[in-house]
Amino acid sequence: MATDIIKAVEQAGVVGAGGAGFPTHIKLQAKAGVVIANGCECEPLSHSDRHLMQNEPQAIIEGLTLAMQASGAKEGIVAVKAKNKAAIQALSAHLPQDKPISLHELKDYYPIGDEHLLVYEVTGKLVPPQGIPPQIEVVVCNVATLYNIVKAMQKVPVTHRYVTVMGEVAEPKTVSVPIGLSLGELLVLAGGNLTDNPAYILGGPMMGQLVYDEKLPVTKTTGALLVLDRNHSLILKKRFRVKNSRRQAASYCYQCKDCTQTCPRSLLGHDLSPHETMRQTGYAATKAALSNINAGLCSGCGLCEAYACRMGLSPLEANRRVLKDKTKCASPAAVPTPHPLRDIRFVPSGRLISRLGLRAYNIAVPYDSVRYTPQSVNLPLNQHVGAPAKALVSKGERVRVGQLVAETPTGELGAKLHSPIAGRVVETEPGLLIKH
Ligand code: SF4
Ligand code: SF4
Repeated sequence: MATDIIKAVEQAGVVGAGGAGFPTHIKLQAKAGVVIANGCECEPLSHSDRHLMQNEPQAIIEGLTLAMQASGAKEGIVAVKAKNKAAIQALSAHLPQDKPISLHELKDYYPIGDEHLLVYEVTGKLVPPQGIPPQIEVVVCNVATLYNIVKAMQKVPVTHRYVTVMGEVAEPKTVSVPIGLSLGELLVLAGGNLTDNPAYILGGPMMGQLVYDEKLPVTKTTGALLVLDRNHSLILKKRFRVKNSRRQAASYCYQCKDCTQTCPRSLLGHDLSPHETMRQTGYAATKAALSNINAGLCSGCGLCEAYACRMGLSPLEANRRVLKDKTKCASPAAVPTPHPLRDIRFVPSGRLISRLGLRAYNIAVPYDSVRYTPQSVNLPLNQHVGAPAKALVSKGERVRVGQLVAETPTGELGAKLHSPIAGRVVETEPGLLIKH
């Protein structure tokens, strides 16, 4: 049975839909005692997971059961924020009496979706720093991934996903759209931009990618699109961060340690001190000094730059620079000890939203059940962790809805890709362009 599930998941091209894009058929091969369904919807403002949980509670519980069967887990836990009452109500109505599956209600703070934090909150167990949950026999799957596992068992490949469009749009909403749909068309579905000078954050405001091109496509890992004016403070901060230099770290960082005292990985007991990263990269910057920085422990959550630092500095970017320099990192301690003040240093999502200047967009967003079929889709071949997929179709070839059109070569980490529309292949590089 486990092999059947894993095979079906591989054939359907299921990858981590929460943003990671890790091939799910590999994840499910881990042996686990517990599977956590991650429905915490970590990024502020996003609604796509809660809408999926409200609309498809039965499928999510079924997907969790399948993930438990594949990994041999005896227990399943759906982790949802307590504030998402409609999702909790919907899921509660479908909890099976004959299986050890339960709900775990989470507090509303950021970044609870980080697997290290989530596993600790839900099970009380600590994943080793730089490790992954299967090392302590835990598997974490996003709820959208679980939904795709159920579809895979019905031989339906991943061709659509829920996306929340929010911010400066006329009708913020969540819609289910084909993979490969352009951001421009997605914006039309949300009533269009309200600003003439837009910038887009693909994903949530904290970890999302700043982009300007409306031709970019929705991928298997796109859960949200945030539209803001280019002069919004969050956009300026993301732009400035990219230019954040060593000289700025040396000039402006006054070693207040607020970044370290807020850093969720540091509070979990990981040997990561963003203020130290700033000091070492700003002043010392010798190979020996940099090798003492455990930059690889940084989750990229962005709290240090977006919330903690009053000087507008980015310890996150400093960590990335250390990693980019390929400096060998010190070996982190095997068993972390959470900080005694951890509980009072959580950053509530509401406070974070205010700090980001996004309060005006923190509104109830509806789900729109409209079904939209675009005239063309643009399918990047690298929508997953691992080696890019290779096209299996040629220019001019006609394809059906759901047809396998690209896959990663056998033996390499990767995933399969299917066409969300019927049409003709127009381009095969750098991605697949398919037109009606
Ligand atoms: S919060 Fe900012 S100023 Fe304070 S130590 Fe961190 S980087 Fe430096
Ligand atoms: S981004 Fe900053 S706050 Fe988040 S884990 Fe990395 S150093 Fe810590």
